[in-house]
Amino acid sequence: MTGARIRCEGSANLDSVTNADLHCHSTISDGLLAPGEVVRRAHGNGVDLLALTDHDEIGGLDEARSVAAELGLRFINGVEISVSWGDDTTVHIVALDIDPRHPALIAGLAQVRSGRDQRAVQMGAELDKVGIHGAHQGALRYVGNPALVSRSHFARYIVEAGHAKDVKTVFDHWLAKGKPGYVAHSWATLSQALSWIHGAGGLAVVAHPGRYRLSNKELRRLLVQFRDLGGQGIEVLSGSHSDEEVSEFARYAREFGFLASRASDFHGPGESRIDLGKLPQLPADLTPVWQKFRG
Ligand code: AMP
Ligand code: MN
Ligand code: MN
Ligand code: MN
Repeated sequence: MTGARIRCEGSANLDSVTNADLHCHSTISDGLLAPGEVVRRAHGNGVDLLALTDHDEIGGLDEARSVAAELGLRFINGVEISVSWGDDTTVHIVALDIDPRHPALIAGLAQVRSGRDQRAVQMGAELDKVGIHGAHQGALRYVGNPALVSRSHFARYIVEAGHAKDVKTVFDHWLAKGKPGYVAHSWATLSQALSWIHGAGGLAVVAHPGRYRLSNKELRRLLVQFRDLGGQGIEVLSGSHSDEEVSEFARYAREFGFLASRASDFHGPGESRIDLGKLPQLPADLTPVWQKFRG
């Protein structure tokens, strides 16, 4: 854990947090709002501690931080890192309270981003075979930075082209693992992601653990590996968790001694099940991850 910083316990500032939202996206990756607009919306919704966590990219943090400062909203640097784990399972690890200038983190994220463009070409070719034409060019119309073209951008184009009524339907039919437009990809390893995060002085959090379609045994194996690599937190509250999943992941947090995060995973109005700052409160006995942020 080179470069890891000493964390103050229970800073007075952070004890007063009542509406943290520690996972969301902007147009820097696959969100629909610019970084500053995300911050304004969060503030309008009553968020008092916000992390922007674009996929594999920290380019939105400066804008977000400066708008947050104007509004008096407390802001935390974040990023959501794509990881390949086990037998072709993509897992997302959210990095919180990182130093975005840390060279190993910057180089690592650049490595993870590379290859998205080639994957997108392949996705376009596979979709073409099942009658969805022009998807690669179409997806590129929705992306700010072509190096970050994602399945979300394909999904938006496929809806626009009239093949499906919404983005969720596109994933169910074409883009989820096992569907015709899914192209496997090698992201970072779990160990790389954690070493970058810890090197940058941050905290590592398992994003939306309910989304991975892992058996209980596999999920447990993931959490054991994550903990053994020094991983600290888990999203107990996530925009993609049912009430049962919230209880389930609260139990895992207790068992593994993980810090608990509150994380809408907001991507944009109309596309996300839960808006910024609209999640319920964490179970009272869990330790919120923000208590370990550098005060
Ligand atoms: P990628 O990194 O290109 O594989 O794209 C992953 C992104 O697709 C995630 O970050 C989500 O924003 C989005 N996504 C994945 N699965 C679904 C789904 N079932 N419904 C809607 N969006 C999804
Ligand atoms: Mn996304
Ligand atoms: Mn994710
Ligand atoms: Mn996300």
